[in-house]
Amino acid sequence: MQGISDKDLIKNSSYINGCWHSSVTDFSVTNPANDVELIKISNAGIIETELAVKAAKDTLKLWSQKSANDRAVLLRRWFDLMMQHQDDLARILTLEQGKPLAEAKGEVAYGASFIEWFAEEGKRVYGDTIPASSSDKRIVVIKQAVGVVASITPWNFPNAMIARKAAAALAAGCTFVVRPATQTPLSALAMAELSRRAGIPSGVFNVVVGEDAHGMGEVLTQHPDVAKFTFTGSTQVGKLLLKQCATSVKKVSMELGGNAPFIVFDDADIDAAVKGAIDSKYRNAGQTCVCTNRIFVQQGVLKAFTEKFARAVSKLVVGEGLTGGVNIGPMISARAVNDVDDLVTGAIAAGAAVVLGGKKHSAGNNYYQPTVLTNVTNEMSVAVNEIFGPVSPIIAFDKEEQVLAMANATEYGLAAYFYARDIGRIWRVAEGLEFGMVGVNEGIISNAAAPFGGVKQSGNGREGSKYGLDDYLEIKYLCLGGLND
Ligand code: NAP
Repeated sequence: MQGISDKDLIKNSSYINGCWHSSVTDFSVTNPANDVELIKISNAGIIETELAVKAAKDTLKLWSQKSANDRAVLLRRWFDLMMQHQDDLARILTLEQGKPLAEAKGEVAYGASFIEWFAEEGKRVYGDTIPASSSDKRIVVIKQAVGVVASITPWNFPNAMIARKAAAALAAGCTFVVRPATQTPLSALAMAELSRRAGIPSGVFNVVVGEDAHGMGEVLTQHPDVAKFTFTGSTQVGKLLLKQCATSVKKVSMELGGNAPFIVFDDADIDAAVKGAIDSKYRNAGQTCVCTNRIFVQQGVLKAFTEKFARAVSKLVVGEGLTGGVNIGPMISARAVNDVDDLVTGAIAAGAAVVLGGKKHSAGNNYYQPTVLTNVTNEMSVAVNEIFGPVSPIIAFDKEEQVLAMANATEYGLAAYFYARDIGRIWRVAEGLEFGMVGVNEGIISNAAAPFGGVKQSGNGREGSKYGLDDYLEIKYLCLGGLND
């Protein structure tokens, strides 16, 4: 853990009710760049998770009854501290997760931007008055914090996936418990330390770190004191957790997997499309839920796009995230590399051609070569599955209706991208894509002011934007009667 200037950001145990909470056993966090152990972390479990839920419940009244302004002041301080410690937070993130340092800095700023956004947006939780059907009544609608929010987050964005949820929850007046992924607990714990320094009261933001995903998950999804559960992760685990939430009918939001189409039409600006495809595909070594998964290219520009794209991909530098000039770091684990390699090998066996890469990278166990495949069909497993690695399958198409049908032929519905100039086509395709987010001539779409989320089996609920608060608020209808003399 060298190079961190504020060593007190490195924590090795859960943060519950404002205290660092040791457990009897511990587990290792390793650096995916070289598989070397970074630190041992105190291994929390069911008991600590229950304690965290209790802390969140006990402090709910105090926090929810603060004015939105008072909460905003504390959230703003948290945001300022995150930005003041951006370099350290980014370094911690790269060490545990692997992404290049510049990307990690970007993630810290992105995560913090949600705290800033919701600090302000929390002041705009407006109610409503509705004309009543009789003169002696008034109908008033108010919005109130849901209550205790529990969450489980993945390893691919160890900072931002927590910030996106916690910022909205805290701004709405909810208290919060998060269990981050086992591989990446350090970013979450550093955020907890900064929340403490910001003066966010004990019990409002709790982090439980431990290996018992199943047991801790059961507490977070089934505890009667948890009012809302929010998850970011795979569709497979999301379905399981949804079922668990059903036992106590929790309010739920799910940010799950994706299979983003990236469509290049004949009238596209090819250079812009190449840049957009690189941005949306190779960020985080291809391990983001909004990563381009299938590149559809219209026949008229197939050759030109493929050549320019392959040339741009060939320039991407693979290596350790802390090394300057690196564009693609390690993947999260050797297992993840093997999964990607299986998809590529399967595609080649089914008739795909390798334009670039196609193999494990010599940099180490956890690295994969940036890869471009052509002659891919929409039925190959590399197109059907979420790749979650630096691999671009290119699929040719002729007609707009054909590509819309192919793009939508997936159980996922998170992000989609397309490049075109014809205004009629832009509207038709934007409206026809069955996805929660569509980038039109743009490969980077995430922003605190915009609603992030999916349809179909990519989940439900939205994070960020004015809509993001709704997931943490209940609507209450007040009927005032007996008003006549
Ligand atoms: P994952 O296997 O679903 O794990 C996500 C989280 O769930 C981790 O904290 C994991 O803990 C935990 N978990 C696993 N099994 C569990 C169980 N039975 N009970 C309770 N918790 C359990 O997903 P991943 O591989 O880490 O992350 C990649 C996936 O997340 C991709 O599908 C990606 O598309 C999706 N994602 C979606 C979004 C979005 O906003 N839509 C954003 C980012 C990622 P452990 O770490 O201990 O296994």
